[in-house]
Amino acid sequence: MNQEAQSYDAWAAEVRDLARERNAIILAHNYQLPWIQDVADHVGDSLALSRVAAASDAETIVFCGVHFMAETAKILAPERTVLLPVLEAGCSLADTVTAEGVLKWRKDHPDGLVVAYVNTSAAVKAVSDVCCTSANAVEVVLSLPEDRDILFLPDFFLGNHVIRTTGRKLDLWMGECHVHAKISPLQLRQKVEAEPDAELLIHPECGCAASALTLLDDGEIPAERTHILSTGAMVERAINLGTGSALIATETGIIHQLRKANPLGDFRAVDPEAVCQFMKMITPQALLRSLQEGTYEIEVPEDIRLRAYAAVERMVSIGSSPVLSR
Ligand code: SF4
Repeated sequence: MNQEAQSYDAWAAEVRDLARERNAIILAHNYQLPWIQDVADHVGDSLALSRVAAASDAETIVFCGVHFMAETAKILAPERTVLLPVLEAGCSLADTVTAEGVLKWRKDHPDGLVVAYVNTSAAVKAVSDVCCTSANAVEVVLSLPEDRDILFLPDFFLGNHVIRTTGRKLDLWMGECHVHAKISPLQLRQKVEAEPDAELLIHPECGCAASALTLLDDGEIPAERTHILSTGAMVERAINLGTGSALIATETGIIHQLRKANPLGDFRAVDPEAVCQFMKMITPQALLRSLQEGTYEIEVPEDIRLRAYAAVERMVSIGSSPVLSR
């Protein structure tokens, strides 16, 4: 056994012992560091993990992800202690919008409706009518009355995709994720052209799919080998790929899961530098400290939680929710 494997085993054993002592469950987003993914009880996207949190009977949820995700877990599982190992693990997309900004739009559009992508704070969800993810944004918008003004936030690219797909008029919040905005249309086209046998796998969560969806709409990348897939479906596709190859257009952390699922496949990032530094703040040391010290507990005031919960529940009741489990 090499030194790194020995270090991992010793660290993982300590993490699991501490988790057992605390009656804690460890959830890791797909974009977490490999060690964090490997030690977690569940790996997935933010809403799937929140669903796991809500269904779990563990006393403590350690959410290895970013702040809005831990908040969403708390919204759905208020009776649990939710820990985020690094409080500064934020999200540049979620940070583009505030509750005050939404309320200002509402003042100008008293009958308007607000659709909030899950990458938003609890305070923003609380002043929104319904939540969505990139997988069900079209369906959520289509479920709303045609005679009402609609604000779609915060991802401008995803909002544009929804406008093209539904033909509905939307006011768009001008937000974007700095990690995914970096995956340039030129880079995507060049990689796809250079690898004519590779499939293009796009994960519809966390703002990742937005620019790729626009290219797909414009016919600039081939629809026949492009797949917009949930986490579970992406892993299944990876297994079925055999010795084939796939280009992955999202944050690079997911490639660890795909390689584990199919060691024979060839999985490469469209942009190897598409790395979210907020996700990577959750280091092995930070997770250990979180379990040792109970840091950092995420709280959501009950009035905000109840209103945010209503927006999430409305999304789920619209159906074909993209909430995914692996
Ligand atoms: S990848 Fe982008 S959208 Fe996802 S957490 Fe990081 S900054 Fe936010």
